[in-house]
Amino acid sequence: MEDYSHILTHLGEDRNQVLGAVNPPIYYSSNFAFNTVAEMRHALTHEMDVPFYTRGHNPTVAVLRKKLAALEKAEECLLFGSGSAAMAAAVMSQVQQGDHVVCVQKPYSWTGKLLVKLLSRYGVSHTFIDGSEATNYEAAIQENTKLLILESPNSMTFELQDLPAVAAIAKKHGIRTICDNSYASPINQNPIEMGIDIVIHSATKYLSGHSDVIAGALCTSREIAEKIFQSEYMTIGAILSPHDAWLLMRGIRTLSLRMQRIAETTPKIVEYLAAHPLVDKVYYPFLTDNPQHDLAKKQMKQAGGQFSIELKVDSIDKVDAFCNALQTFLMACSWGGYESLIFPISTLYQSANYAETTLPWNFIRFYVGLEEAAYLIADLEQAFDGIS
Ligand SMILES: *Cc1c(COP(=O)(O)O)cnc(C)c1O
Repeated sequence: MEDYSHILTHLGEDRNQVLGAVNPPIYYSSNFAFNTVAEMRHALTHEMDVPFYTRGHNPTVAVLRKKLAALEKAEECLLFGSGSAAMAAAVMSQVQQGDHVVCVQKPYSWTGKLLVKLLSRYGVSHTFIDGSEATNYEAAIQENTKLLILESPNSMTFELQDLPAVAAIAKKHGIRTICDNSYASPINQNPIEMGIDIVIHSATKYLSGHSDVIAGALCTSREIAEKIFQSEYMTIGAILSPHDAWLLMRGIRTLSLRMQRIAETTPKIVEYLAAHPLVDKVYYPFLTDNPQHDLAKKQMKQAGGQFSIELKVDSIDKVDAFCNALQTFLMACSWGGYESLIFPISTLYQSANYAETTLPWNFIRFYVGLEEAAYLIADLEQAFDGIS
């Protein structure tokens, strides 16, 4: 296991600058004042790196930028008010009218909507492909393709893409790549090391880890980050507030500890469910009979806490009864916090999203938080008892 102690505890924190404060103060200031024209001129021409105006640079946010860049083995990180804002800025920075994007099928819902509903209005077209074969990306490349989008593993069914293989295809064609790395967190997978150009995180999930902040991160080279800063970042202005950066910093102190704990607990829950007579199918990259198990072991260091199951029951009422009976697993969207969760697909069945999902009615997405495995299994057991 890699040692993250320095990054999580000290990197980016110049404590001499802040009266020795152990934890970085929240710089709640929109603007910063200068003594001389020369000083102000310097700040204005280095807005990405020094305090001038908080939409560009803020000292509290800056500490976190350094930590996240280091965690992702990137030169730079820009922080956003949500993961969706980070993804939108990344994608928009790489395309213009007439361009084409190849994206893995079934990406995070709002990544899909960015392509289908928003960028299509500005003359940017797209193709969704089955990403389980890297060659499918190459086959979909057109003359005007500028960008390949990956999400490995993706949400809900957790299909992987071979990151080095897709990155190599992109490089051969002079095309940029973006990978949503929210599932794995920077602890379990580092796409930049595998040749990906831009890594996106919903920092709302594992990075925050406490179900209290909505935030996003974009990690990339200095060159790409500078371009995004001068354009999408400053123009759209979807920044992370200093207070939310501070909360995120509080969460990130324990990131490697939490990921370690989750990697130990989740396989126990998965094994219990995989062996249960009322479970039909388990979707989990680290299950040995998963067709992408070898790829998962090759490019991810350890397992995350998300997996899905299909219940072996004959009615949606039984699915609902099972979910309603769970007490310690909360029923909610999102994941990555301290609390274990379920997201039953049956909740979509009366909503407008029903038409958009290809997932079966007996499908339940799980997230394992920081509780003890036995405590969670006891909850599952009593819920199964109620429907058998
Ligand atoms: C939640 C999520 C996002 C969006 O992040 P927000 O912080 O909610 O905007 C993007 N990608 C994945 C995989 C997610 O789970």
